[in-house]
Amino acid sequence: RRRGSEGAASPGGGGGGNASTNVRVCCRFRPANKVEEAQGAERAVSFGEDAASVTLHEGIAKEDATFTFDRVFQESSQQDEVYDYCAKPLVKDVLDGYNCTIFAYGQTGSGKTHTMMGPSGGKMGPGNDGEDLRGVVPRIAEDIFDTMSGADADTEFMIKVSFVEIYMERIRDLLNPGARNQNLRVRDVRGRGVVIEGAEEVYVSSAKELLKVAAKGNASRAIASTRMNQDSSRSHSVFMITVSQRKTQSTLLSRTGKLFLVDLAGSEMVKKTGATSGVLEEAKTINRSLSALGNVIKALVEGAKHVPYRDSKLTRCLQDSLGGNSKTSLIITCSGFKYNAVETLSTLRFGTRAKRIKNKPTVNQEFSVAEYKAMVARSRDSLLMMVKY
Ligand code: ADP
Ligand code: MG
Repeated sequence: RRRGSEGAASPGGGGGGNASTNVRVCCRFRPANKVEEAQGAERAVSFGEDAASVTLHEGIAKEDATFTFDRVFQESSQQDEVYDYCAKPLVKDVLDGYNCTIFAYGQTGSGKTHTMMGPSGGKMGPGNDGEDLRGVVPRIAEDIFDTMSGADADTEFMIKVSFVEIYMERIRDLLNPGARNQNLRVRDVRGRGVVIEGAEEVYVSSAKELLKVAAKGNASRAIASTRMNQDSSRSHSVFMITVSQRKTQSTLLSRTGKLFLVDLAGSEMVKKTGATSGVLEEAKTINRSLSALGNVIKALVEGAKHVPYRDSKLTRCLQDSLGGNSKTSLIITCSGFKYNAVETLSTLRFGTRAKRIKNKPTVNQEFSVAEYKAMVARSRDSLLMMVKY
């Protein structure tokens, strides 16, 4: 099938209209961690030469199973490669007024936050060997502002960000941690898509400012999880960047592109043994949220009449991103070692199903009242013309 692949079935492939596009799915493997090293770091996977397939070896699944994605990144992959392929093409799309989503799925410790934010949740700067370890969020912020500054002089931009966390089916505002309402509502607003009601929206005018806001959100996430004794690997974080633009010298009033950057809760099965009742209660809720995600994907792929978006807060937030008005890129993160092979198999299966989701992205735009009146007048004129002849 598709090799490495550009092609029609990918977000960022350009083109407007109502063409449907598949969710782009990339798979990233991380290097062995200490636990795996201690177990001898025995490998469970091998990689295809096409950079798009991975085989999980016998003994884990019943037989060798090969999975193909838009791209497979091996352990040695660098942050910039992953970014360039999975995220960068969406910069232009967001600025063109499309909704876009990038989300990371995988077991705890597989590299979701490393991929989305970078080491320690977004610490800036180069790593030991001078390598730039920043993840998707800081890179895309920079690219959005760079691309904007190269736009026509008559285009005005406005960028705002929100940052929420979904934990135990409650949506908490990470940019307003002291808020009385710790359970925001999701609403589907006509013409605006999915909106998290009451979430703080912070206007930013540079990548640096944007990253400060992201860092603030990450900090309040960490503080809350410590204070409330919650396991942060059990929560989903949703970072939203809204880019609005206006042409001062033209007919277009505004275009709005929304970018969702989602770091999902760990996908691992929660171990049944040793769970106190509180922990178990929590585990059930998480399972509900992630299994709701699985059910939505299943319904979409099977073409079911009813897609159960309303079954969880997570799927309500991602309603546009999955099967709706969005160009969506999914990054699944995995371990390639035997110690975690069962979880890797389940992640690869999730990614395989998600590949088949078709979205229908459209540009979000509005015209000015003056232009709208002019348009009506023009069409009335042409109608009169038609009557005349
Ligand atoms: P998750 O968010 O999925 O729970 P993390 O992103 O926190 O996992 O990763 C767990 C650990 O593994 C972190 O110490 C992280 O820096 C490291 N890690 C993850 N992916 C990579 C990678 N591709 N290269 C190097 N280190 C990684
Ligand atoms: Mg994480």
